[in-house]
Amino acid sequence: MPGVNWRDDAACRNADPDLFFPIGKAGPALYQIDQAKRICQACPVCAPCLAWALENGVASGVWGGATEDERRILRRTPEPEHRPWAGR
Ligand code: SF4
Repeated sequence: MPGVNWRDDAACRNADPDLFFPIGKAGPALYQIDQAKRICQACPVCAPCLAWALENGVASGVWGGATEDERRILRRTPEPEHRPWAGR
């Protein structure tokens, strides 16, 4: 169970930050994004991480398994109950 501060349980704490903040959206960046998402998939705090990134309008990087473009789409979801991380 995640602790009070979800960052304490982040699976990416010791990961290469370049994976989560790739430069560009093509070539090597695609590999980095894929690697970051794999780490997020196994992360026990993926839901609160994604919620935090959405609520705070974080513009860059992979957070909660979502890229900035994917988060932009998620932010357009009008009703909080349609968001899979709601209530967590
Ligand atoms: S969901 Fe991904 S970016 Fe968020 S804390 Fe976990 S590993 Fe890090």
